[in-house]
Amino acid sequence: MPIATVNPYTNETLKTFQEQTPKSIERALETAAAEYRHWRTTSFADRAAILHRVAAILRRRREELAKLITTEMGKLIAESVAEVDLSADIFDYYADHGEIFLADQPVATERGEALLRHSPIGLVLGVEPWNFPVYQVARFAAPNVMIGNVVLVKHASNVPQCAIAIESAFQEAGAPAGLYTNLLIPGSKVSELVADERIQGAALTGSEVAGASLAAAAGKSMKKSVLELGGSDALIVLEDADIDQTVEWAFVGRMNNTGQCCVASKRLIVVEPVADEFIQKFVARMSNLRTGDPLDPSTQLGPLSSEAAAVELEGQIRRAVEAGATVLLGGKRIPRKGAFLEATVLTDVTPGTPISHEELFGPVAVIYRVPDEESAIRVANDSPFGLGGSVFTSDVERGKRVADRIDTGMVFINHPTWTAPELPFGGIKRSGYGRELSSLGVEEFVNKKLIRVSSLSDPF
Ligand code: NAP
Repeated sequence: MPIATVNPYTNETLKTFQEQTPKSIERALETAAAEYRHWRTTSFADRAAILHRVAAILRRRREELAKLITTEMGKLIAESVAEVDLSADIFDYYADHGEIFLADQPVATERGEALLRHSPIGLVLGVEPWNFPVYQVARFAAPNVMIGNVVLVKHASNVPQCAIAIESAFQEAGAPAGLYTNLLIPGSKVSELVADERIQGAALTGSEVAGASLAAAAGKSMKKSVLELGGSDALIVLEDADIDQTVEWAFVGRMNNTGQCCVASKRLIVVEPVADEFIQKFVARMSNLRTGDPLDPSTQLGPLSSEAAAVELEGQIRRAVEAGATVLLGGKRIPRKGAFLEATVLTDVTPGTPISHEELFGPVAVIYRVPDEESAIRVANDSPFGLGGSVFTSDVERGKRVADRIDTGMVFINHPTWTAPELPFGGIKRSGYGRELSSLGVEEFVNKKLIRVSSLSDPF
């Protein structure tokens, strides 16, 4: 994929970028390695000061950054603004809490004094996706900067201007050269980089294919990796749920970011007693969305991130129909310029067919009718993914019991999904491993070093 800004609203190429040469990658690694020797000696207060300034710069440049996000990947402008604000909150959160999370922990031991120190490990690489071009980077960079690591970011090739803007926010915040480095390289160059002896760990947010490739490279060179991959989250509707409100949340859960969220509510699993009412109201909610320019605040359905993404999703819908699915709404490209696809609702997708195990990354909801709670849990767990999911019920204790049996990293009751700096984020199964955000976000690329003090006269 070329490194370029291609506006998916028009499919026009607005700007192209040269891939970095091996020489300039080498220079970046050398600068980062030199800075690590300095950065690891800085105080938490010094690190927090940079992160707070990055947060303030993001807020000040909110409109400009939001416009860049929308231009490069097509997100509705209000969602882009919200993303920039959330990203700023993440930088502030780690600046405020990093020292507490990373404080020495005493270790109870029979003899002597022992403690766990949270030491940095060195240069860490983040490989990031286009769907939340600022938020995903904040999740990776903020905790690592607090730990004392230095970060290199290889962003998705279709959001190069967002990538450069984040690096420039760090520079403006007074970050020393090498603390935060953006690398303009394609995905095919990542494995080589992971193998470099100066890199000590690598995180990837993206597809299974990319995740497996990075994990293999990290495994080969015995480095820690964190993977935040795709999902096919279930949204379970039980018979005691408030259907009108649940329909609204299912709409938000499926359509936020034009359906291109790892934690979108991709499979709506509805118990039989409320299935007819839910389906009729949900299809109505998905109908007649105003299509248009995502920079126009009145637009309700923008383009997908790229023409290729729209073509791929239309192909998945076609294969679902060939396998027996019924189209209740949409299902086709919108006949206009840009990467548009109709808001789509499918049903009669047989559990166990290939399409039921694929991630549908766009405005396509699949509704499963099931007899009861027990079957809802079974269908929810019939997925290779294990990222998030939700349960809608008026009985919170029942919701918690169902949540307990869902095999994912996150379950939300009476809400489709949620993210906040203090909430851990991550999955199991083919959705990856490791966690970002919250206190867990500083635990991945840190050396939990034992320091033990004993008396010279202690016996061996
Ligand atoms: P993608 O194609 O995997 O790209 C993600 C990143 O990986 C990009 O920077 C890409 O670079 C790079 N990459 C591609 N091939 C690679 C390889 N062989 N080795 C190493 N890196 C490689 O994914 P995407 O289409 O951008 O993102 C959508 C996916 O991300 C969805 O599956 C979504 O569910 C998932 N996602 C997960 C989370 C989470 O937290 N779990 C959050 C957001 C998104 P190039 O752009 O240069 O190819």
